[in-house]
Amino acid sequence: MKKTTGFDRNTTRHWHPATQAVRGGTWRSEHGETSEALFLTSGYTYDDAETVAARFAGEETGMTYSRLQNPTVAMLEERIALMEGAEACRTQATGMAAMTTALLCQLSAGDHIVAAKAAFGSCRWLVDQLCPRFGIETTVIDGRDNDAWEKAIQPNTKVFFFETPANPTMDIVDMKHVCGVARAHGITSVVDNAFATAVLQRPMDFGADVVAYSATKLMEGQGRVLAGAVCGTEKFINDVLLPFQRNTGPNLSPFNAWVVLKGLETLDLRARRQSENALAVGKFVEKRVPKILHPGLASHPQHNLAMSQMEACGPIFSFILEDRKQAMAFLNALQLVDISNNIGDSRSLCCHPASTTHYSVSAEARADMGVVDGMLRINIGLEDPRDLIADLDQALTKVGL
Ligand SMILES: *Cc1c(COP(=O)(O)O)cnc(C)c1O
Repeated sequence: MKKTTGFDRNTTRHWHPATQAVRGGTWRSEHGETSEALFLTSGYTYDDAETVAARFAGEETGMTYSRLQNPTVAMLEERIALMEGAEACRTQATGMAAMTTALLCQLSAGDHIVAAKAAFGSCRWLVDQLCPRFGIETTVIDGRDNDAWEKAIQPNTKVFFFETPANPTMDIVDMKHVCGVARAHGITSVVDNAFATAVLQRPMDFGADVVAYSATKLMEGQGRVLAGAVCGTEKFINDVLLPFQRNTGPNLSPFNAWVVLKGLETLDLRARRQSENALAVGKFVEKRVPKILHPGLASHPQHNLAMSQMEACGPIFSFILEDRKQAMAFLNALQLVDISNNIGDSRSLCCHPASTTHYSVSAEARADMGVVDGMLRINIGLEDPRDLIADLDQALTKVGL
């Protein structure tokens, strides 16, 4: 296999994320196929025994086993790295496999991690439940409070971990400040960028060391497969992440990698249109509900910070009804929008975080991060916003709003 002339990453690194999303990492076989080939293979064969020995010894490049390398997966990894402005990327089977790998590959018993309290339920579970079981100390803070990060630092602090916007409270973290504090103290900042992706926000441009993804969401974009990714320097990926990943095996399947490659081709288009639609729908919802948390609206307390970090607001926002009963009745009244706990999909989906995505988080932690019983989270898709507004209008009317 040869890389098509002109696709050497050293000469194409300057391409913008939208171009990388279509072209980056393309690696064509001798057939010159237009669309990326799907190498659905677990292993490889060799012409002679010396070749395989040289590959295992690292003296010769080439594939040896799909837990270690796979051409389709490698294309996706190179594409994501180029979109992100990162030196390297490795993909995992799910977003949670990516988060677990990004944290555990670099943490040991006796280390300390500082994390923002507003986070996806399973990310909070990693911090609250898993890390302490392995002797990793954790401190959870309000990620919106710039000073809280520095105050939480201990001599053994190794990692800052946060998402922005956060799921589902839409808290925004000031990346330039927080990643700067991390750098100044030799701490690795790990940013979960699932709500934005590289086309709307590139954390490394603000000083992030590691960017981790649920590629299940906007990247894949059409609700088909689960996937995850971790981006960082070549040194971090090769020396810290790869020994963990190669020996524990949280790898992404080539088939799923291929589906995500196809999804990335339309990411820029989808993310921007879904952001536009989310803004239009948000402006309507804002007039009808007690509270809305939408980074694209001036009513969001961190609207200016959000828009200084993001090119567009993204497809997701939350709003708060009076109580759980009214929130459930609203979901049940929806006709076009599906009741579903996924996000980033081209379909509009709405869910009740307290009983779904954040069910695994303790009631105290939920209350502390602001995931109240009346909260609903909505992902706005590619439908005509007029139809979405009509559906939300009738559902709000039905619950008396
Ligand atoms: C969905 C999500 C995850 C987990 O990703 P999976 O692909 O479902 O494992 C992690 N972080 C955030 C912010 C998410 O929205």
